[in-house]
Amino acid sequence: MVDRIDEILPQTQCEKCGYAGCRPYAEALVKGDDINKCPPGGNETILALSKLLSTPYLALNPKHEKITTQKVAYIIEDQCIGCMKCIKVCPMDAIVGAPKLMHTVITDDCSGCDLCIDPCPVDCIIMREVKNEDTVSVSSQTISAELNQSYRWRSLHAKRQTRLANEAIKNTNKETTIKEASFSRTNARKEIKDAIGRTLQKRKIAQDIKLNRHNP
Ligand code: SF4
Ligand code: SF4
Ligand code: SF4
Repeated sequence: MVDRIDEILPQTQCEKCGYAGCRPYAEALVKGDDINKCPPGGNETILALSKLLSTPYLALNPKHEKITTQKVAYIIEDQCIGCMKCIKVCPMDAIVGAPKLMHTVITDDCSGCDLCIDPCPVDCIIMREVKNEDTVSVSSQTISAELNQSYRWRSLHAKRQTRLANEAIKNTNKETTIKEASFSRTNARKEIKDAIGRTLQKRKIAQDIKLNRHNP
């Protein structure tokens, strides 16, 4: 059921429903949360959820800001200080840039979630209304542009999740290697210390024997 609900949700991953993305909201819906918390989906999504979950229609909850126009992020590049804070939060990996260098938004990949706005320390990201030339080209005749777009966002988000998971595994491996190296260093130190201890002990015994011989 979670998969079927997730299919209906718009996949902007904007977190405006109060959850950390569309799938967590889908999981909450299975547990009985209200169907009227997704502003990008609007009425259409609420109706589809109501049908799928056999639950009464509810108007969009006013606590969840209504979205009337589709927007994309735009970076005022000469003001960007290259801090990378926006890259870290973008659910679509739609921002490119290197540390301390200008960043830019790949308009076609931006879902308009606006999650990058708040973290920018110099307020150089603005949301602009989508113009015709900004929209993703729709190749299929059989599915709607909206569906095409949500598939695209789903796949961009999945790609990002995979990248983050791989990076986490790499970091864990790195940490394990560091821990192992430090463990071996500690062990080596302990072995040297023990060996010195043993040598000193032997010397002392030898000395005692010598003294005993001289002073019986
Ligand atoms: S599109 Fe945004 S508000 Fe709607 S379910 Fe996804 S994350 Fe939540
Ligand atoms: S660039 Fe900003 S608005 Fe666009 S998807 Fe990324 S975080 Fe969201
Ligand atoms: S958060 Fe703002 S200043 Fe930092 S890299 Fe992104 S656009 Fe540039």
